[in-house]
Amino acid sequence: MANNKLLKILVAGDPVLRQVAKPVERIDKKLLRLLKDMAETMYAADGVGLAAPQVGVSKRVVVIDVGEGLLELINPVIVKKEGSALGSEGCLSVPDYEGEVERASYVECEFTDRSGKRMFLQAHELLAVCVQHELDHLDGILFIDKAATLTPKQKTTPADVVK
Ligand SMILES: [Zn+2]
Repeated sequence: MANNKLLKILVAGDPVLRQVAKPVERIDKKLLRLLKDMAETMYAADGVGLAAPQVGVSKRVVVIDVGEGLLELINPVIVKKEGSALGSEGCLSVPDYEGEVERASYVECEFTDRSGKRMFLQAHELLAVCVQHELDHLDGILFIDKAATLTPKQKTTPADVVK
């Protein structure tokens, strides 16, 4: 196996981000490779989620890690939404802005895992927001389309970053 490679993250304005992504029909080596590269790219960018269109691949594939371990979602569908909450969001494809978006506070999601098995996920709070944000990417929707407020991000220099 070759080394993992970091993928280029597209920013708003790129047409791929506005396309409705196609369902995955076959889980092959190429797809497993994509999952792996997407996870590496997400971690390297300090993100909590990444959708395939963000790396120029118009397929229904998402990786998420909100600090509870890596989730790989193939052909995910939200089957239930409950509650609503306004929360702050950012996006690796919209590097200069953050905004407040109203989302369901609980979602249930069905997806296929890397072995081809259909799985079920119950997501609360940050994970629920992340699932909705990333699945929107698969339909060509960005959080800036839904944001109640948008504010320019503070520019930080390395000295300002506190881990
Ligand atoms: Zn995003």
